[in-house]
Amino acid sequence: MALAQSPRGPPGDPMTSLLITDIGELVTNDPQWASAGQSAGQSADVARLGLVRNAALVVEAGRVAWIGPASLAPQADSQRSVAGRAVIPGFVDSHTHLVFAGDRAGEFAARMAGTAYDGGGIATTVAATRGASDEELRALLTARMAELRRQGTTTVEIKSGYGLSMDDELRLLRLAAEVTPHVTFLGAHVVPTEYAADRAAYVDLVTGPMLAAVVEQGAAAYVDVFCEPRSAHAFTEEEARAILLAGRSAGLGLRVHGNQLGPGPGVRLACELGAVSVDHCTYLDSDDVAALAESGTVATLLPGVEFSTRHPYPDARRLLDAGVQVALATDCNPGTCYTSSMPFVIALAVRELRMTPAEALYAATAGSAATLGLRGRIAVGEPADLAVLDAPSHVHLAYRPGVPLASALLG
Ligand SMILES: [Zn+2]
Repeated sequence: MALAQSPRGPPGDPMTSLLITDIGELVTNDPQWASAGQSAGQSADVARLGLVRNAALVVEAGRVAWIGPASLAPQADSQRSVAGRAVIPGFVDSHTHLVFAGDRAGEFAARMAGTAYDGGGIATTVAATRGASDEELRALLTARMAELRRQGTTTVEIKSGYGLSMDDELRLLRLAAEVTPHVTFLGAHVVPTEYAADRAAYVDLVTGPMLAAVVEQGAAAYVDVFCEPRSAHAFTEEEARAILLAGRSAGLGLRVHGNQLGPGPGVRLACELGAVSVDHCTYLDSDDVAALAESGTVATLLPGVEFSTRHPYPDARRLLDAGVQVALATDCNPGTCYTSSMPFVIALAVRELRMTPAEALYAATAGSAATLGLRGRIAVGEPADLAVLDAPSHVHLAYRPGVPLASALLG
């Protein structure tokens, strides 16, 4: 077979093949294995995970080259047993704000003591980030990326949004691009304090020279906006529409922070304009749910935010039952959710959002991957973005909350 015929390089050669075997439960998210699960009587949510028991897989040149029962595994240059553990697609954290300096632990403590969140604290992080050198920001970002991988995340989207000036936004986008290809321009995170008296001038800057520079430098694949008319700091429907239309005309994909702090226009705007994702979706009415169900826009839920702000959780069941595509991500940021843990998000989604363990895992892998143009599955030809659980089954992610079970398997 092809594997046996492939040239064998010296140890460490990227063309060397690696057999990973003794996988107690392999989650593939692959429809090919899903249909086998369905005919074996699994419920639809579990079948969709495309489980293979007592499995093995071969990785070659960074991609999956073979999958199947361990008893049928081909020879490879080297072999690694995971001793009955579960292997899953690496988590795809499709919503983070990882490039920032400073923290807001004091603001968190005040909020837990009763102070309401309104987005105003973002200015604190903007000041700290503008004041940090490239080297300082790079060191912080590198440490956060390592923290993500230790918890099983292999793909991450990173937004700018703590620069809010031409030079600082471009700087944050450049730093983000050093660690991920999935970079989002969030110049419209909030209106910076120096523009508070002239919001229109800031929207003109974001949609004009700032966007032009981002596009000219190829600095981002997406544009995002914090559409929240109830916050004095975030953007109205009209402002958000102008920003998204400008980004779309410039060839960027659209992402939206919508309906986080209360009912609002963000979700419907995202669906109308063809955004790949609208994130938060905490306060939805029936028109919002219908718009999501009829659109290709994914509803990305970020329940770590509700945990950290004591807001009510989004109604995931209503979305799933309406046929909406749902994703899960952390929103890792220093203000409203300073966790990088996708397993924690999955545990919240199961306990508080009433998703099944299978639905939550799918949403945190294939669901979030879809918003980045990826598949989030383990299949022949796909990148070998794998995570291993120190547990026999994916159910343990929610069953054993707070226990560090997941880690990136390779590299
Ligand atoms: Zn966010």
